[in-house]
Amino acid sequence: MKLFLILLLYPALAAADGPRAYRWMPKEWKPLPYLFSASLESFLQGKKPIAPISVGFGELARSQDLLGAKGEIVGRGRQTFRGAVVEGTWTQTIFHPDGHVLYAAGAVYDGASDAALSARIDDMGKKKSEFLARAMKQEQIRGAAVPMEAELRMRKEKNGGYTVFWNFEWIPASEDRILTLRLLESGAEELEEMPMVGADGRAVLYPSGPRLSSLSETVLSDLLGDGTISGRRLRVASALDLEVWSPNLLFMYPEEDRRFDLAQVYYLLDRSFVWMKQRLNAELQRPVNVKVHIGKNGVSNNSFYGQNTIYLGTGDGLTYRDMLKDPSILSHEAVHAIIDTYVGLPSQGEGGSLNEGFADLFAALMLDNPRFAEVSYLKGPYRRTLEHDLKAYQDFTSNIYRNGSIIAATFWDLKPILGSDRLAEFAFRTLTRLGSGAGFADLPSALMGASTGFLTAPEQTAVFEKVRARGWVVVL
Ligand SMILES: [Zn+2]
Repeated sequence: MKLFLILLLYPALAAADGPRAYRWMPKEWKPLPYLFSASLESFLQGKKPIAPISVGFGELARSQDLLGAKGEIVGRGRQTFRGAVVEGTWTQTIFHPDGHVLYAAGAVYDGASDAALSARIDDMGKKKSEFLARAMKQEQIRGAAVPMEAELRMRKEKNGGYTVFWNFEWIPASEDRILTLRLLESGAEELEEMPMVGADGRAVLYPSGPRLSSLSETVLSDLLGDGTISGRRLRVASALDLEVWSPNLLFMYPEEDRRFDLAQVYYLLDRSFVWMKQRLNAELQRPVNVKVHIGKNGVSNNSFYGQNTIYLGTGDGLTYRDMLKDPSILSHEAVHAIIDTYVGLPSQGEGGSLNEGFADLFAALMLDNPRFAEVSYLKGPYRRTLEHDLKAYQDFTSNIYRNGSIIAATFWDLKPILGSDRLAEFAFRTLTRLGSGAGFADLPSALMGASTGFLTAPEQTAVFEKVRARGWVVVL
């Protein structure tokens, strides 16, 4: 107990005016007595797996949320004083399920307990509705996409005193930034706009899949920073309910560990979205959900996109294996999310064939490879390719992937004329001219519209010659 408190209070990283930092870890596993204001048992027996609970933190009274995790409980909180959260502070505690502390870290201020400050905080606490009404007058708050969060806060000023304020945080309808409004006890207002900049994590994975690259430590960009493998664009979860959580954003799992897959998938999908943003200036309107390990016992040969979610199987080991490491499969599914955002093509019929065709085309352009599933397909060197002589209409069947590959090949033929970058742009201009109700017969006019003002006259002639050769009926 003594050792615990001494180390806990030792200011390891105290900045000049900043809070005191502490970090504690037992040298050997030895349970330490711990005081709770509510019994842990009552929390664990509660129905909610995650519930806020106030914990007496020894002589440092901190409020923490207790979060269930496999084999341990994670306490996460900030320093509070009379219900006001002290800015710039944090506490992180790992508990054994029996309630003993296994690890503790954080940064807190020493005593802020004078009577005058207490009265000011209490006074601000009582005026919540008054401040809320003032916040609601902000035009951007009224149209907010995500409801705002109101929190009573205090912050330490350079002169050593504290300022008490109501803090409102919300995400506007555009979902591209966080807005913070501080209404101070003095009556002053502070409005801050923060672009959503993600945190970087690191993981061991195959950056270009196992065929073209070897396992290496790679940056996972734009993570939310909450310890999960979720980011600005992607929320990745396993259908097997695997716990993947790393507060320092390091995801170093051995390949046999199925948690490995989540980082691998995040990397390949996110890289695809970055490519579409850079080359096409195309991006998602809202984050897309990703579910890996679908199928009975986590085994499936399917991957598909539906209702803002990418579903990914791993392969049964007979027809496919390592699908989650296959860049062509992941890029293809990422494109579906962008197609859904910009055009909303269906997944069946002629529209479904167009959907598959554009997904194949952009994936092939991204990876500079017209072959699909080279990594994962076990019954041949690849599952399908854009290098073929099939023609529109005469070779169409009820198979949307085959039809799609004819559509994609129509564009792939144009690569020698336009080059990859301009071809990607031209194809995207065509895609956005289709609309969700489009069929095969709409493709030539969309191509025509896309070429206007984009291709030169000689390019246009060369392009439509190729398009005709693929079986499309083009009337100039
Ligand atoms: Zn598809």
